[in-house]
Amino acid sequence: MALSNDDQIKEIIVIGAGVIGLTTALKIQEQGTYRVTIVAENFPTDPKSIRYTSHWAGAHHVSHAYNDQNQRKLDQDTFHALWQLSGPGSAAEGCFLRHTQTEYHGDDLTDAEWLHYMPDFKYLDTNELRGPAKMGFSFSTVTMNTPIYLNWLMSSFLAKNGTILRVSLQHISQLLERGTSPYTGAHSYRAVDAIVVCAGLGARNLGGVEDKDVYPIRGQTVLLRAPWIKFGRTMTEADGTYTYTMPRSNGDVLCGGTRVPNDWYPVPRPEITEDILARALQLTPELVPPQTCVDREPTVEDLRPIIIEPGCGLRPGRKGGIRLEVEWVDAPTRGKVPVVYNYGHSGYGFLSSWGSASKALELLEDALATGAPTNAEIGVEHPSGNLGN
Ligand SMILES: Cc1cc2nc3c(=O)[nH]c(=O)nc-3n(C[C@H](O)[C@H](O)[C@H](O)COP(=O)(O)OP(=O)(O)OC[C@H]3O[C@@H](n4cnc5c(N)ncnc54)[C@H](O)[C@@H]3O)c2cc1C
Repeated sequence: MALSNDDQIKEIIVIGAGVIGLTTALKIQEQGTYRVTIVAENFPTDPKSIRYTSHWAGAHHVSHAYNDQNQRKLDQDTFHALWQLSGPGSAAEGCFLRHTQTEYHGDDLTDAEWLHYMPDFKYLDTNELRGPAKMGFSFSTVTMNTPIYLNWLMSSFLAKNGTILRVSLQHISQLLERGTSPYTGAHSYRAVDAIVVCAGLGARNLGGVEDKDVYPIRGQTVLLRAPWIKFGRTMTEADGTYTYTMPRSNGDVLCGGTRVPNDWYPVPRPEITEDILARALQLTPELVPPQTCVDREPTVEDLRPIIIEPGCGLRPGRKGGIRLEVEWVDAPTRGKVPVVYNYGHSGYGFLSSWGSASKALELLEDALATGAPTNAEIGVEHPSGNLGN
């Protein structure tokens, strides 16, 4: 039985419970005029899985927007939100570590103008450079302890009456006819007013989306226990090799990295783990436990006792960048329904999450306010014309 939707309260389904789905669901819910359900195959409370990228991220806010003005705005808006959330006394403070980040460049980068808004930004003097670096800069930023932060997002959503439902969807149309009722077994249902797709890499195969511009960019890491490290460093070399050491609020440090397009391999490769340990040690020799080697050079062997786990995740890359747009799709029994897309965040999902969520909300509200475009508006002259054989 279809329950009538209260005009004031719209029924929204968000597909995906990674950092993008959770942040977007929270942002929509905050308006107070929507009932929001998250439908996903994987949740932050699950064990880590190759099907859920967000668990594997660092994650720090170090924007790589360069000259892309849209990306700059998403990243900058997100930084302001994260800085606020990480502030002393904030409910989410424990998810974050505020720290000094130093970026070293052995490539051809000459300036970092797009990062000038970051607190305490400054270029390094030549005598502060290390290894193959030809230039560098530092600023204050945050890292998120990702498993904790994702759970904080989800519990905030639940605390505000959000609903979650575990479903592995084959096609978005499975939600269009009778909402989530096919999966809950409920006899009554509310019609869906809009769907928001935040399926990450899943957007490649999810029916009704099937975006073949989406592809994996595999990243491998090693998580260490080094609570004495309270600063972050990244080295980008001339050949594109990049190495980072990212401290988290709980004393863990995530070391990486690799970026390999179209590599779907689902578990850490041992030889890459060794390479990451060697590079991380070169960049940040302070990783070695204090007092371990007072009278000799540190080696990778000194890091083995503090290894928590190697890891790897598949970043949801997308040719053309993040997809943030609306389409109207036919919903059986009730005309057209807007579908908002918010996926394809590659290696910057955390650092552009709040900006992307705000943009998705704006697209959603505009669509609901203006309604479906008419056939004339979308240029269809004879919608029921000759369909052929
Ligand atoms: C090693 C590594 C380091 C990184 N470091 C950083 C960093 O420092 N800073 C940063 O900003 N980013 C970083 N990233 C990138 C970041 O992790 C991603 O951009 C982000 O996690 C993408 O989030 P998402 O929500 O789009 O995808 P996901 O986290 O993969 O979530 C996708 C969701 O969609 C659901 N889903 C998909 N298909 C279906 C379906 N058919 N039916 C039901 N549910 C479905 C999944 O179950 C899941 O809940 C890093 C990534 C890696 C791998």
